[in-house]
Amino acid sequence: MRPASFETRVAGVLVAGREVVRPLIRVENPASRDETVGYVACGTRDDVDAALTAAELAFPLWAGLTPKERAVALLRAADVLEPLSEEFAATLTLEVGKVHAESFGDAEGAHRLLRVFAGFADEVAAADHGAPLPSSGSAQVHVRHVPKGPVAVIPPWNTPIYLAFMAVAPALMAGNPVVVKPPEIAPIAVTRALGVLAEQLPPGVVSIVNGLGPDAGAALTGHPGIRKVLFTGSTATGTTVMRSAAANITDVGMELGGNDAAIVLEDATIDEEMIAQLLAGCFGLSGQICYNVKRIYVHASRLDEFVGRFSEGLERIVVGDPRDPLTVIGPLATPEARERARELLEDARSRGARILEGGRMLAPETWEHGNFVRPALAVGGDPHAALVMEEQFAPIIPVIPFATVEEAVTEANATHYGLAGSVWSADEARAWEVARRLEAGTVFVNIHRVGASPAEAPFGGFKRSGIGRNHGVDSIFACMEQQSVVRFEDAGVVPGLDRWRAG
Ligand code: NAD
Repeated sequence: MRPASFETRVAGVLVAGREVVRPLIRVENPASRDETVGYVACGTRDDVDAALTAAELAFPLWAGLTPKERAVALLRAADVLEPLSEEFAATLTLEVGKVHAESFGDAEGAHRLLRVFAGFADEVAAADHGAPLPSSGSAQVHVRHVPKGPVAVIPPWNTPIYLAFMAVAPALMAGNPVVVKPPEIAPIAVTRALGVLAEQLPPGVVSIVNGLGPDAGAALTGHPGIRKVLFTGSTATGTTVMRSAAANITDVGMELGGNDAAIVLEDATIDEEMIAQLLAGCFGLSGQICYNVKRIYVHASRLDEFVGRFSEGLERIVVGDPRDPLTVIGPLATPEARERARELLEDARSRGARILEGGRMLAPETWEHGNFVRPALAVGGDPHAALVMEEQFAPIIPVIPFATVEEAVTEANATHYGLAGSVWSADEARAWEVARRLEAGTVFVNIHRVGASPAEAPFGGFKRSGIGRNHGVDSIFACMEQQSVVRFEDAGVVPGLDRWRAG
Protein backbone atom coordinates (compact mmCIF):
# COMPACT_ATOMS: atom_id res chain seq x y z
CA MET A 1 0.00 0.00 0.00
CA ARG A 2 1.15 3.53 -0.66
CA PRO A 3 1.54 5.77 2.38
CA ALA A 4 -1.47 8.00 3.06
CA SER A 5 0.69 11.05 2.44
CA PHE A 6 1.31 10.11 -1.21
CA GLU A 7 0.60 13.14 -3.30
CA THR A 8 1.48 14.07 -6.78
CA ARG A 9 1.27 17.25 -8.71
CA VAL A 10 1.19 17.29 -12.48
CA ALA A 11 1.18 20.07 -15.00
CA GLY A 12 -2.51 20.59 -15.43
CA VAL A 13 -2.13 22.96 -18.30
CA LEU A 14 0.44 22.04 -20.92
CA VAL A 15 0.44 24.07 -24.10
CA ALA A 16 3.17 23.74 -26.73
CA GLY A 17 5.35 22.02 -24.13
CA ARG A 18 5.06 24.82 -21.57
CA GLU A 19 3.42 24.50 -18.14
CA VAL A 20 1.16 27.25 -16.85
CA VAL A 21 0.66 28.13 -13.18
CA ARG A 22 -3.01 28.24 -12.12
CA PRO A 23 -5.12 27.66 -8.99
CA LEU A 24 -5.26 23.98 -8.16
CA ILE A 25 -7.97 21.31 -8.19
CA ARG A 26 -7.59 18.81 -5.32
CA VAL A 27 -8.06 15.17 -6.28
CA GLU A 28 -9.20 12.90 -3.45
CA ASN A 29 -9.06 9.16 -2.96
CA PRO A 30 -12.63 7.79 -3.09
CA ALA A 31 -11.64 4.94 -0.75
CA SER A 32 -10.41 7.42 1.84
CA ARG A 33 -11.63 10.92 1.13
CA ASP A 34 -9.26 12.65 3.56
CA GLU A 35 -6.37 11.39 1.50
CA THR A 36 -5.25 13.78 -1.23
CA VAL A 37 -4.05 11.98 -4.33
CA GLY A 38 -2.71 15.17 -5.85
CA TYR A 39 -3.51 18.40 -7.59
CA VAL A 40 -3.90 19.64 -11.12
CA ALA A 41 -4.10 23.18 -12.37
CA CYS A 42 -7.54 24.66 -12.94
CA GLY A 43 -7.29 25.97 -16.49
CA THR A 44 -9.20 28.91 -17.89
CA ARG A 45 -10.69 30.11 -21.16
CA ASP A 46 -7.34 31.90 -21.83
CA ASP A 47 -5.54 28.56 -21.60
CA VAL A 48 -7.97 27.05 -24.08
CA ASP A 49 -7.31 29.98 -26.44
CA ALA A 50 -3.55 29.47 -26.06
CA ALA A 51 -3.91 25.73 -26.74
CA LEU A 52 -5.90 26.44 -29.89
CA THR A 53 -3.31 28.95 -31.11
CA ALA A 54 -0.60 26.32 -30.58
CA ALA A 55 -2.72 23.66 -32.31
CA GLU A 56 -3.39 25.88 -35.33
CA LEU A 57 0.33 26.63 -35.65
CA ALA A 58 1.20 22.93 -35.40
CA PHE A 59 -1.53 21.80 -37.81
CA PRO A 60 0.25 22.37 -41.18
CA LEU A 61 3.38 20.62 -40.00
CA TRP A 62 1.58 17.59 -38.52
CA ALA A 63 -0.91 17.29 -41.37
CA GLY A 64 1.98 17.65 -43.84
CA LEU A 65 3.74 14.54 -42.57
CA THR A 66 2.95 11.32 -44.38
CA PRO A 67 0.72 8.87 -42.47
CA LYS A 68 3.77 6.61 -42.17
CA GLU A 69 5.77 9.43 -40.55
CA ARG A 70 2.94 10.12 -38.12
CA ALA A 71 2.75 6.40 -37.33
CA VAL A 72 6.49 6.31 -36.58
CA ALA A 73 6.06 9.20 -34.11
CA LEU A 74 3.12 7.46 -32.41
CA LEU A 75 5.04 4.18 -32.18
CA ARG A 76 7.99 5.98 -30.61
CA ALA A 77 5.63 7.47 -28.02
CA ALA A 78 4.10 4.02 -27.39
CA ASP A 79 7.57 2.65 -26.62
CA VAL A 80 8.14 5.39 -24.04
CA LEU A 81 4.66 4.96 -22.52
CA GLU A 82 4.62 1.17 -22.15
CA PRO A 83 7.11 0.90 -19.24
CA LEU A 84 5.15 3.59 -17.38
CA SER A 85 1.93 1.52 -17.27
CA GLU A 86 2.47 0.34 -13.68
CA GLU A 87 3.01 3.91 -12.51
CA PHE A 88 -0.16 5.10 -14.27
CA ALA A 89 -2.13 2.14 -12.90
CA ALA A 90 -1.10 2.89 -9.29
CA THR A 91 -2.33 6.47 -9.70
CA LEU A 92 -5.58 5.36 -11.36
CA THR A 93 -6.30 3.05 -8.41
CA LEU A 94 -5.92 6.00 -6.07
CA GLU A 95 -7.96 8.55 -8.01
CA VAL A 96 -10.69 6.33 -9.57
CA GLY A 97 -10.90 3.72 -6.78
CA LYS A 98 -10.53 0.67 -9.01
CA VAL A 99 -8.54 -2.49 -8.40
CA HIS A 100 -5.14 -3.06 -10.02
CA ALA A 101 -6.36 -5.31 -12.87
CA GLU A 102 -8.87 -2.66 -13.95
CA SER A 103 -6.37 0.19 -13.54
CA PHE A 104 -3.66 -1.65 -15.45
CA GLY A 105 -6.03 -2.41 -18.36
CA ASP A 106 -6.90 1.29 -18.48
CA ALA A 107 -3.23 2.39 -18.27
CA GLU A 108 -2.12 -0.02 -21.00
CA GLY A 109 -4.62 1.64 -23.33
CA ALA A 110 -2.10 4.45 -23.91
CA HIS A 111 0.54 2.40 -25.73
CA ARG A 112 -1.81 -0.26 -27.09
CA LEU A 113 -4.13 2.19 -28.83
CA LEU A 114 -1.26 4.23 -30.28
CA ARG A 115 0.07 1.00 -31.82
CA VAL A 116 -3.34 -0.12 -33.08
CA PHE A 117 -3.97 3.18 -34.83
CA ALA A 118 -0.39 3.53 -36.14
CA GLY A 119 -1.07 0.16 -37.78
CA PHE A 120 -3.60 1.83 -40.11
CA ALA A 121 -0.94 4.04 -41.79
CA ASP A 122 -1.31 2.33 -45.18
CA GLU A 123 -5.10 2.73 -45.22
CA VAL A 124 -4.77 6.42 -44.26
CA ALA A 125 -2.13 6.95 -46.96
CA ALA A 126 -4.42 5.38 -49.57
CA ALA A 127 -7.34 7.57 -48.46
CA ASP A 128 -5.11 10.66 -48.39
CA HIS A 129 -4.07 10.05 -51.97
CA GLY A 130 -7.69 9.36 -52.88
CA ALA A 131 -9.43 7.18 -55.38
CA PRO A 132 -10.98 8.14 -58.73
CA LEU A 133 -14.74 7.69 -59.00
CA PRO A 134 -15.42 5.01 -61.64
CA SER A 135 -17.60 7.24 -63.81
CA SER A 136 -18.75 10.83 -63.48
CA GLY A 137 -19.59 11.74 -67.07
CA SER A 138 -16.84 13.90 -68.58
CA ALA A 139 -15.65 14.99 -65.13
CA GLN A 140 -12.71 13.28 -63.50
CA VAL A 141 -13.45 13.10 -59.78
CA HIS A 142 -10.90 12.04 -57.24
CA VAL A 143 -12.07 11.63 -53.63
CA ARG A 144 -9.45 12.29 -50.96
CA HIS A 145 -9.58 12.25 -47.17
CA VAL A 146 -7.85 15.25 -45.60
CA PRO A 147 -7.30 16.16 -41.93
CA LYS A 148 -9.99 18.35 -40.37
CA GLY A 149 -7.95 20.56 -38.02
CA PRO A 150 -7.82 20.81 -34.21
CA VAL A 151 -9.83 18.15 -32.38
CA ALA A 152 -11.14 18.54 -28.80
CA VAL A 153 -11.08 15.39 -26.68
CA ILE A 154 -13.07 15.15 -23.44
CA PRO A 155 -12.91 11.79 -21.61
CA PRO A 156 -14.77 10.73 -18.43
CA TRP A 157 -13.20 9.73 -15.10
CA ASN A 158 -14.03 6.01 -15.09
CA THR A 159 -11.47 4.88 -17.70
CA PRO A 160 -9.62 8.12 -18.37
CA ILE A 161 -6.44 6.89 -20.09
CA TYR A 162 -8.03 4.29 -22.37
CA LEU A 163 -10.90 6.56 -23.38
CA ALA A 164 -8.65 9.60 -23.93
CA PHE A 165 -6.31 7.60 -26.18
CA MET A 166 -9.26 5.95 -27.96
CA ALA A 167 -10.02 9.46 -29.29
CA VAL A 168 -6.53 11.01 -29.38
CA ALA A 169 -4.87 8.18 -31.35
CA PRO A 170 -7.25 8.21 -34.36
CA ALA A 171 -7.41 12.03 -34.36
CA LEU A 172 -3.60 12.23 -34.50
CA MET A 173 -3.29 9.48 -37.07
CA ALA A 174 -5.71 11.45 -39.24
CA GLY A 175 -3.27 14.39 -39.16
CA ASN A 176 -5.04 16.61 -36.62
CA PRO A 177 -3.62 18.30 -33.52
CA VAL A 178 -5.61 17.61 -30.32
CA VAL A 179 -6.50 19.55 -27.18
CA VAL A 180 -7.61 17.38 -24.26
CA LYS A 181 -9.62 18.46 -21.20
CA PRO A 182 -9.16 15.62 -18.66
CA PRO A 183 -11.94 14.74 -16.18
CA GLU A 184 -11.61 16.73 -12.94
CA ILE A 185 -12.43 13.68 -10.76
CA ALA A 186 -9.50 11.63 -12.07
CA PRO A 187 -7.13 13.88 -14.02
CA ILE A 188 -3.67 12.92 -12.77
CA ALA A 189 -2.75 9.67 -14.51
CA VAL A 190 -4.22 10.71 -17.85
CA THR A 191 -2.45 14.09 -17.69
CA ARG A 192 0.84 12.27 -17.05
CA ALA A 193 0.26 9.88 -19.94
CA LEU A 194 -0.75 12.64 -22.34
CA GLY A 195 2.20 14.75 -21.16
CA VAL A 196 4.56 11.93 -22.13
CA LEU A 197 2.86 11.67 -25.53
CA ALA A 198 3.09 15.45 -26.03
CA GLU A 199 6.84 15.38 -25.34
CA GLN A 200 7.34 12.89 -28.19
CA LEU A 201 5.52 15.03 -30.76
CA PRO A 202 6.13 18.52 -32.19
CA PRO A 203 4.98 21.34 -29.85
CA GLY A 204 1.26 22.12 -30.11
CA VAL A 205 0.27 18.73 -31.57
CA VAL A 206 -0.99 17.58 -28.16
CA SER A 207 -2.10 20.14 -25.57
CA ILE A 208 -3.75 19.47 -22.22
CA VAL A 209 -5.98 21.92 -20.40
CA ASN A 210 -7.20 20.66 -17.05
CA GLY A 211 -10.10 22.45 -15.42
CA LEU A 212 -13.78 22.22 -14.61
CA GLY A 213 -16.21 20.91 -17.20
CA PRO A 214 -18.50 23.95 -17.35
CA ASP A 215 -15.46 26.30 -17.58
CA ALA A 216 -12.45 24.92 -19.45
CA GLY A 217 -14.54 22.10 -20.97
CA ALA A 218 -17.24 24.41 -22.30
CA ALA A 219 -14.65 26.93 -23.56
CA LEU A 220 -13.03 24.12 -25.55
CA THR A 221 -16.16 22.54 -27.08
CA GLY A 222 -17.54 25.96 -28.03
CA HIS A 223 -14.24 27.26 -29.46
CA PRO A 224 -14.54 28.34 -33.12
CA GLY A 225 -11.10 26.86 -33.90
CA ILE A 226 -12.20 23.32 -32.99
CA ARG A 227 -13.20 21.22 -36.02
CA LYS A 228 -14.39 18.13 -34.17
CA VAL A 229 -15.34 17.31 -30.57
CA LEU A 230 -14.79 13.73 -29.40
CA PHE A 231 -16.74 13.51 -26.14
CA THR A 232 -17.18 10.53 -23.82
CA GLY A 233 -19.38 11.00 -20.77
CA SER A 234 -22.95 11.24 -19.61
CA THR A 235 -25.89 11.86 -21.92
CA ALA A 236 -26.78 15.01 -19.94
CA THR A 237 -23.35 16.57 -20.46
CA GLY A 238 -23.29 15.31 -24.06
CA THR A 239 -26.43 17.36 -24.73
CA THR A 240 -24.74 20.49 -23.37
CA VAL A 241 -21.60 19.79 -25.39
CA MET A 242 -23.60 19.36 -28.61
CA ARG A 243 -25.34 22.69 -27.97
CA SER A 244 -22.03 24.50 -27.60
CA ALA A 245 -20.57 22.75 -30.67
CA ALA A 246 -23.67 23.75 -32.66
CA ALA A 247 -22.71 27.43 -32.34
CA ASN A 248 -19.86 26.78 -34.80
CA ILE A 249 -21.42 23.82 -36.70
CA THR A 250 -18.62 21.74 -35.20
CA ASP A 251 -18.71 18.02 -35.95
CA VAL A 252 -19.16 15.76 -32.90
CA GLY A 253 -18.51 12.16 -31.92
CA MET A 254 -20.46 11.20 -28.80
CA GLU A 255 -19.92 8.15 -26.57
CA LEU A 256 -22.59 8.53 -23.92
CA GLY A 257 -24.38 6.68 -21.15
CA GLY A 258 -26.03 3.28 -21.28
CA ASN A 259 -28.67 1.22 -19.53
CA ASP A 260 -27.77 -2.18 -20.90
CA ALA A 261 -30.27 -5.02 -20.57
CA ALA A 262 -29.34 -8.69 -20.30
CA ILE A 263 -32.17 -11.06 -21.30
CA VAL A 264 -32.04 -14.56 -19.80
CA LEU A 265 -34.25 -16.84 -21.92
CA GLU A 266 -36.04 -19.86 -20.47
CA ASP A 267 -33.48 -22.26 -21.95
CA ALA A 268 -30.40 -20.42 -20.59
CA THR A 269 -27.71 -22.55 -18.96
CA ILE A 270 -27.60 -21.16 -15.44
CA ASP A 271 -24.28 -22.57 -14.28
CA GLU A 272 -21.11 -21.39 -12.60
CA GLU A 273 -19.69 -19.99 -15.86
CA MET A 274 -22.80 -17.92 -16.54
CA ILE A 275 -22.90 -16.54 -13.01
CA ALA A 276 -19.20 -15.56 -13.17
CA GLN A 277 -19.74 -13.86 -16.54
CA LEU A 278 -22.73 -11.90 -15.25
CA LEU A 279 -21.04 -10.95 -11.97
CA ALA A 280 -18.18 -9.43 -14.00
CA GLY A 281 -20.66 -7.82 -16.41
CA CYS A 282 -22.74 -6.21 -13.66
CA PHE A 283 -20.21 -5.38 -10.97
CA GLY A 284 -16.95 -4.60 -12.81
CA LEU A 285 -15.63 -1.22 -11.63
CA SER A 286 -18.42 -1.23 -9.03
CA GLY A 287 -21.04 -0.92 -11.78
CA GLN A 288 -19.45 2.26 -13.18
CA ILE A 289 -18.70 1.14 -16.76
CA CYS A 290 -20.76 2.50 -19.65
CA TYR A 291 -21.59 -1.00 -20.88
CA ASN A 292 -22.01 -2.79 -17.59
CA VAL A 293 -25.15 -4.93 -17.45
CA LYS A 294 -27.55 -2.55 -15.71
CA ARG A 295 -30.82 -4.54 -15.83
CA ILE A 296 -31.47 -8.29 -16.02
CA TYR A 297 -34.72 -9.65 -17.49
CA VAL A 298 -35.20 -13.31 -16.55
CA HIS A 299 -37.88 -15.70 -17.86
CA ALA A 300 -40.36 -16.09 -14.98
CA SER A 301 -39.98 -19.91 -15.01
CA ARG A 302 -36.25 -19.54 -14.14
CA LEU A 303 -36.42 -16.52 -11.80
CA ASP A 304 -36.01 -18.34 -8.46
CA GLU A 305 -33.20 -20.54 -9.73
CA PHE A 306 -31.39 -17.56 -11.27
CA VAL A 307 -31.76 -15.32 -8.22
CA GLY A 308 -30.62 -18.15 -5.93
CA ARG A 309 -27.42 -18.79 -7.92
CA PHE A 310 -26.71 -15.13 -8.62
CA SER A 311 -27.16 -14.00 -5.01
CA GLU A 312 -24.80 -16.78 -3.88
CA GLY A 313 -22.30 -15.31 -6.34
CA LEU A 314 -22.65 -11.90 -4.68
CA GLU A 315 -20.99 -13.34 -1.59
CA ARG A 316 -17.74 -13.66 -3.54
CA ILE A 317 -17.57 -9.91 -4.06
CA VAL A 318 -15.19 -8.43 -1.51
CA VAL A 319 -15.72 -4.66 -1.23
CA GLY A 320 -12.91 -2.55 0.13
CA ASP A 321 -9.90 -0.35 -0.50
CA PRO A 322 -8.70 -1.23 -4.03
CA ARG A 323 -5.11 -1.21 -2.79
CA ASP A 324 -5.86 -4.35 -0.79
CA PRO A 325 -5.22 -7.41 -3.00
CA LEU A 326 -8.28 -9.15 -1.51
CA THR A 327 -10.61 -6.47 -2.85
CA VAL A 328 -12.83 -7.38 -5.80
CA ILE A 329 -14.57 -4.01 -6.13
CA GLY A 330 -13.70 -0.61 -4.70
CA PRO A 331 -15.80 2.40 -3.76
CA LEU A 332 -17.92 4.62 -5.99
CA ALA A 333 -16.17 7.68 -7.38
CA THR A 334 -17.99 10.33 -5.35
CA PRO A 335 -20.11 10.65 -2.18
CA GLU A 336 -22.95 11.95 -4.41
CA ALA A 337 -22.88 8.72 -6.44
CA ARG A 338 -23.11 6.67 -3.22
CA GLU A 339 -26.04 8.76 -2.01
CA ARG A 340 -27.86 8.33 -5.33
CA ALA A 341 -27.31 4.56 -5.20
CA ARG A 342 -28.91 4.46 -1.76
CA GLU A 343 -31.88 6.53 -2.96
CA LEU A 344 -32.42 4.31 -6.02
CA LEU A 345 -32.32 1.20 -3.85
CA GLU A 346 -34.81 2.62 -1.32
CA ASP A 347 -37.11 3.77 -4.11
CA ALA A 348 -37.04 0.27 -5.67
CA ARG A 349 -37.79 -1.25 -2.24
CA SER A 350 -40.73 1.11 -1.75
CA ARG A 351 -42.04 0.02 -5.19
CA GLY A 352 -42.17 -3.61 -4.19
CA ALA A 353 -38.72 -4.96 -5.10
CA ARG A 354 -37.13 -7.58 -2.83
CA ILE A 355 -33.65 -6.28 -1.94
CA LEU A 356 -30.84 -8.81 -1.59
CA GLU A 357 -27.67 -7.13 -0.37
CA GLY A 358 -24.48 -9.16 -0.53
CA GLY A 359 -20.75 -8.88 -0.73
CA ARG A 360 -18.15 -9.11 1.99
CA MET A 361 -17.09 -5.83 3.59
CA LEU A 362 -13.36 -5.45 4.03
CA ALA A 363 -12.45 -3.26 7.03
CA PRO A 364 -16.00 -1.91 7.50
CA GLU A 365 -14.74 0.44 10.22
CA THR A 366 -13.08 2.50 7.45
CA TRP A 367 -16.17 2.72 5.26
CA GLU A 368 -17.39 6.07 6.56
CA HIS A 369 -14.20 7.62 5.07
CA GLY A 370 -14.88 6.25 1.58
CA ASN A 371 -17.76 5.99 -0.90
CA PHE A 372 -18.40 2.27 -0.41
CA VAL A 373 -21.60 0.51 -1.43
CA ARG A 374 -22.48 -3.16 -0.98
CA PRO A 375 -23.52 -5.00 -4.15
CA ALA A 376 -27.24 -5.70 -4.25
CA LEU A 377 -30.04 -7.14 -6.36
CA ALA A 378 -33.52 -5.61 -6.49
CA VAL A 379 -35.82 -8.46 -7.54
CA GLY A 380 -39.24 -7.79 -9.03
CA GLY A 381 -41.37 -4.81 -8.01
CA ASP A 382 -42.21 -1.93 -10.33
CA PRO A 383 -40.58 -2.73 -13.70
CA HIS A 384 -40.41 1.00 -14.43
CA ALA A 385 -38.80 2.15 -11.16
CA ALA A 386 -35.96 4.67 -11.56
CA LEU A 387 -33.43 1.91 -10.81
CA VAL A 388 -34.63 0.11 -13.94
CA MET A 389 -35.19 3.05 -16.27
CA GLU A 390 -32.13 5.19 -15.44
CA GLU A 391 -28.40 4.56 -15.56
CA GLN A 392 -27.58 3.76 -11.90
CA PHE A 393 -23.75 3.62 -12.27
CA ALA A 394 -23.54 1.61 -9.04
CA PRO A 395 -23.38 -2.09 -8.05
CA ILE A 396 -27.15 -2.45 -7.60
CA ILE A 397 -28.92 -4.46 -10.25
CA PRO A 398 -32.65 -4.82 -10.90
CA VAL A 399 -33.79 -8.35 -11.82
CA ILE A 400 -37.18 -8.39 -13.55
CA PRO A 401 -39.22 -11.46 -14.57
CA PHE A 402 -40.82 -11.67 -18.04
CA ALA A 403 -43.38 -14.02 -19.59
CA THR A 404 -42.66 -13.78 -23.34
CA VAL A 405 -39.65 -12.88 -25.46
CA GLU A 406 -41.75 -10.13 -27.03
CA GLU A 407 -42.26 -8.55 -23.62
CA ALA A 408 -38.55 -8.82 -22.74
CA VAL A 409 -37.45 -7.17 -26.01
CA THR A 410 -40.04 -4.39 -25.64
CA GLU A 411 -38.92 -3.64 -22.07
CA ALA A 412 -35.22 -3.81 -22.99
CA ASN A 413 -35.85 -1.24 -25.75
CA ALA A 414 -38.10 0.97 -23.59
CA THR A 415 -35.29 3.37 -22.73
CA HIS A 416 -33.64 6.38 -24.36
CA TYR A 417 -30.33 4.54 -24.18
CA GLY A 418 -28.97 2.06 -26.73
CA LEU A 419 -25.35 1.28 -25.94
CA ALA A 420 -25.18 -2.53 -25.59
CA GLY A 421 -27.31 -5.52 -24.62
CA SER A 422 -27.09 -9.29 -24.34
CA VAL A 423 -29.12 -12.47 -24.69
CA TRP A 424 -28.41 -15.62 -22.70
CA SER A 425 -29.61 -18.96 -24.10
CA ALA A 426 -28.40 -22.51 -24.76
CA ASP A 427 -29.63 -22.05 -28.33
CA GLU A 428 -27.15 -19.61 -29.89
CA ALA A 429 -29.09 -19.22 -33.13
CA ARG A 430 -32.20 -18.22 -31.23
CA ALA A 431 -30.20 -15.86 -28.99
CA TRP A 432 -28.70 -14.28 -32.11
CA GLU A 433 -32.17 -13.61 -33.52
CA VAL A 434 -33.39 -12.05 -30.28
CA ALA A 435 -30.18 -9.98 -29.97
CA ARG A 436 -30.77 -8.49 -33.45
CA ARG A 437 -34.02 -7.00 -32.15
CA LEU A 438 -32.27 -5.02 -29.42
CA GLU A 439 -31.80 -1.32 -30.15
CA ALA A 440 -28.14 -1.24 -29.16
CA GLY A 441 -24.79 -0.53 -30.82
CA THR A 442 -23.27 -3.77 -29.52
CA VAL A 443 -25.17 -6.99 -28.81
CA PHE A 444 -23.57 -9.95 -27.07
CA VAL A 445 -24.59 -13.62 -26.81
CA ASN A 446 -23.84 -15.39 -23.50
CA ILE A 447 -21.30 -12.72 -22.50
CA HIS A 448 -21.52 -8.98 -21.76
CA ARG A 449 -18.57 -7.35 -20.12
CA VAL A 450 -15.29 -5.47 -20.53
CA GLY A 451 -12.91 -7.53 -22.64
CA ALA A 452 -15.73 -8.81 -24.85
CA SER A 453 -15.71 -5.82 -27.19
CA PRO A 454 -12.65 -6.37 -29.42
CA ALA A 455 -10.70 -3.31 -30.55
CA GLU A 456 -11.67 -4.01 -34.19
CA ALA A 457 -15.42 -3.99 -33.43
CA PRO A 458 -17.06 -0.58 -34.01
CA PHE A 459 -18.25 0.61 -30.60
CA GLY A 460 -20.94 3.21 -29.95
CA GLY A 461 -24.58 3.72 -29.20
CA PHE A 462 -28.04 3.96 -30.73
CA LYS A 463 -30.45 6.67 -29.56
CA ARG A 464 -29.18 8.85 -26.69
CA SER A 465 -26.15 6.63 -26.12
CA GLY A 466 -24.23 8.43 -28.80
CA ILE A 467 -23.32 9.46 -32.30
CA GLY A 468 -20.64 7.71 -34.36
CA ARG A 469 -18.44 4.71 -33.62
CA ASN A 470 -15.04 4.24 -32.03
CA HIS A 471 -12.37 1.65 -32.82
CA GLY A 472 -11.15 0.67 -36.26
CA VAL A 473 -9.93 2.62 -39.27
CA ASP A 474 -13.34 4.29 -39.67
CA SER A 475 -12.74 6.24 -36.47
CA ILE A 476 -9.69 7.79 -38.21
CA PHE A 477 -11.76 8.71 -41.28
CA ALA A 478 -14.36 10.23 -38.94
CA CYS A 479 -11.64 12.74 -38.00
CA MET A 480 -11.06 13.65 -41.66
CA GLU A 481 -13.00 15.49 -44.34
CA GLN A 482 -13.84 14.01 -47.70
CA GLN A 483 -12.60 16.26 -50.48
CA SER A 484 -13.78 15.79 -54.05
CA VAL A 485 -11.11 16.96 -56.51
CA VAL A 486 -12.85 17.69 -59.83
CA ARG A 487 -11.26 18.35 -63.21
CA PHE A 488 -12.27 18.05 -66.88
CA GLU A 489 -10.29 17.11 -69.93
CA ASP A 490 -12.14 19.94 -71.69
CA ALA A 491 -13.81 22.38 -69.26
CA GLY A 492 -15.45 24.11 -72.22
CA VAL A 493 -17.94 21.29 -72.71
CA VAL A 494 -19.51 21.83 -69.28
CA PRO A 495 -22.94 23.47 -69.90
CA GLY A 496 -23.79 26.94 -68.57
CA LEU A 497 -20.88 28.95 -69.97
CA ASP A 498 -22.47 30.45 -73.10
CA ARG A 499 -23.77 33.71 -71.61
CA TRP A 500 -20.36 34.37 -70.05
CA ARG A 501 -18.49 34.08 -73.31
CA ALA A 502 -17.41 37.18 -75.23
CA GLY A 503 -19.44 37.86 -78.37
P1 NAD B 1 -19.72 13.61 -17.24
O1 NAD B 1 -20.62 13.84 -18.39
O2 NAD B 1 -20.10 14.15 -15.92
O3 NAD B 1 -18.25 14.21 -17.54
C1 NAD B 1 -17.52 13.81 -18.68
C2 NAD B 1 -16.51 14.89 -19.03
O4 NAD B 1 -17.22 16.05 -19.45
C3 NAD B 1 -15.62 15.34 -17.87
O5 NAD B 1 -14.29 15.46 -18.35
C4 NAD B 1 -16.18 16.70 -17.51
O6 NAD B 1 -15.21 17.57 -16.98
C5 NAD B 1 -16.65 17.21 -18.85
N1 NAD B 1 -17.68 18.25 -18.80
C6 NAD B 1 -18.63 18.46 -17.84
N2 NAD B 1 -19.40 19.52 -18.16
C7 NAD B 1 -18.95 19.97 -19.36
C8 NAD B 1 -19.35 21.04 -20.22
N3 NAD B 1 -20.37 21.84 -19.93
N4 NAD B 1 -18.68 21.21 -21.36
C9 NAD B 1 -17.65 20.39 -21.71
N5 NAD B 1 -17.22 19.37 -20.92
C10 NAD B 1 -17.87 19.17 -19.76
O7 NAD B 1 -19.50 12.03 -17.19
P2 NAD B 1 -18.70 11.19 -16.11
O8 NAD B 1 -19.43 11.19 -14.83
O9 NAD B 1 -17.27 11.64 -16.13
O10 NAD B 1 -18.74 9.73 -16.78
C11 NAD B 1 -19.77 8.84 -16.58
C12 NAD B 1 -20.68 8.77 -17.79
O11 NAD B 1 -19.91 8.51 -18.95
C13 NAD B 1 -21.70 7.65 -17.71
O12 NAD B 1 -22.93 8.09 -18.18
C14 NAD B 1 -21.11 6.59 -18.63
O13 NAD B 1 -22.06 5.68 -19.15
C15 NAD B 1 -20.49 7.44 -19.69
N6 NAD B 1 -19.46 6.72 -20.43
C16 NAD B 1 -19.70 6.37 -21.73
C17 NAD B 1 -18.76 5.62 -22.42
C18 NAD B 1 -18.99 5.18 -23.85
O14 NAD B 1 -18.04 4.72 -24.49
N7 NAD B 1 -20.20 5.28 -24.38
C19 NAD B 1 -17.57 5.25 -21.80
C20 NAD B 1 -17.37 5.63 -20.47
C21 NAD B 1 -18.32 6.38 -19.80
